[in-house]
Formats: sequence, C-alpha cells, structure tokens
Amino acid sequence: MIHYTCDCCGKAMRSVDDVRYEVTIEIKAACNPVEHAEIITAEELDEELHQLIQMIDSVGSDEIVEDMYKNFRFDLCRKCKLSYEKDPLAHRRLFDLALGVGVVPFGQN
Ligand SMILES: [Zn+2]
Repeated sequence: MIHYTCDCCGKAMRSVDDVRYEVTIEIKAACNPVEHAEIITAEELDEELHQLIQMIDSVGSDEIVEDMYKNFRFDLCRKCKLSYEKDPLAHRRLFDLALGVGVVPFGQN
C-alpha cells in the first residue's frame, strides 16, 4: 500500500482508503501575438540574432530557461482540494492577511 501526505495540511493518505488529488501548476512565459508581420532585412535579422546571443551569454541559458518555465506538483486531500479550488490564487487569504485577520489554513474553512 502506498502512503501519501497532503502537501497542504499534512494529513496522511492511504492509496486504498483516501481520494488523493494532484495539483499541477505551470508557469510559462506567454508570447504576445504579432499584430502584423514586419519585413526585415537580412542585416536587421543578423543584428537581432547577435543581440539575442549576447543576452543569453550575459544571463546564462539556465537562468533564461528557469525564467521561461517552471512547474509544481502537489498532492491534496479532499478537504484541501475543495478549499483550494474555491480560491486557487489565494486572493481571500491575502486579503485576510492585509486586514490582520487570522488566516485559516487550506482545508479548515
Ligand atoms: Zn489536506
């Protein structure tokens, strides 16, 4: 039997008895659509590629990749899943923090 732990409340979950929910969060750099195609010369294209290569050299490719994409995966129990889906961006929790109201952990509301 496989045992899981809710990443939110810490509840132990058994694969046989408990429903477990996986939450996967992806953060990706979004590209804006091009409104109209620009016709550029070969020299302009060379210059843009040169600038791009310089930027990659100065920042480092690992840092650029990390800045472009990141993902997270969490296991949640049913109670935390129900709470999470009501406020996935934690707006209410941040509002409570700003007001100095006690923040209720996921799964306890
Ligand atoms: Zn939980």
